[in-house]
Amino acid sequence: MTATVKIVLVYQSLLGIYGDQGNAKVLHKRLAWRGIDAEVVTVEPGQPLPADGAVYLLGGGEDNAQTTAVRELRRDGGLFTALDHGAVLFAVCAGYQICGHTFTIGENDEVREGLGLLDVTTRRGPTRAVGEILTRWTKPDGTSSLITGFENHGGYTTLGPGAAPLARVEVGVGNCGDGTEGAVQGRVVGTYPHGPVLARNPELADHLLTLALGRELEPLPGPQAEHDGLRAERIAFVRG
Ligand code: GLN
Repeated sequence: MTATVKIVLVYQSLLGIYGDQGNAKVLHKRLAWRGIDAEVVTVEPGQPLPADGAVYLLGGGEDNAQTTAVRELRRDGGLFTALDHGAVLFAVCAGYQICGHTFTIGENDEVREGLGLLDVTTRRGPTRAVGEILTRWTKPDGTSSLITGFENHGGYTTLGPGAAPLARVEVGVGNCGDGTEGAVQGRVVGTYPHGPVLARNPELADHLLTLALGRELEPLPGPQAEHDGLRAERIAFVRG
C-alpha cells in the first residue's frame, strides 16, 4: 500500500489572510483526480508540524504575524526536518519573505531574522506593489509558461547567488522591480502572487507535485478548452 500524500497547510491563523489556503485544495484535488491518496493537514502554532509531509504551504499575512511564524517554526523544528527528508516548501508573499535571511517590519523597518531557507533578503520598498502580476516561468524542461496572480506587498526582495528567480516579470513589480519574481533553492519555492496562484496556474501546481513525488504525473483529462479560455481572458486583461 502506498502512503497517503500529506499536504501541510501551515499556520492559517497567522498566514491565512490572502486566500492562499486555496493552494492546498488545488494540490489535494489534482492528486485525487489522478487517483492518488492525499490529505490536507492544517497545523496551528503550538501544534507539532508533521515531519512526514510531502508539500508544506506558507501563505500571506501581516508583518507581526510573520515574526511570530518564524519564532514558532524555529521552536517546532518539524519543517526543517521535513525539508532535510526531501519535502517541498511552497511559500507565498509573507511566507516567501520569512523563508529568507531577514525581512523588515513596520514603519521603522525593524529587521527580523527569517528561516534562512532561501538566499534572499527583504526590506520595505519605495511603493507598495499592489495589482495584477504576470510573469514568465521557465519550466525544468526549458519551455516556458505564463504565471498570473495578484500581488500585494510592501517588502521588496533581493536574491543572493544561492537562489534563482522563479520567473521574469512581464507586468507588475515582482521581487523588487528588477525584472525577477520569486525564488527557487532546492525544493523551496517562494513567490509573490496570490490568486490563489496554484488555482490560476495548474502547471505550477503539477510541477510542485512532481518534485514532491519524484515522478512525472499523468496529464489530467477535463474541460481544457474552458480552462484555457478563462486563462487567456485573464492574461489579455492584465496585458491591457
Ligand atoms: N507584510 C508583507 C508585506 O507587505 C507581506 C504581505 C502579504 O503577505 N501580502 O510585504
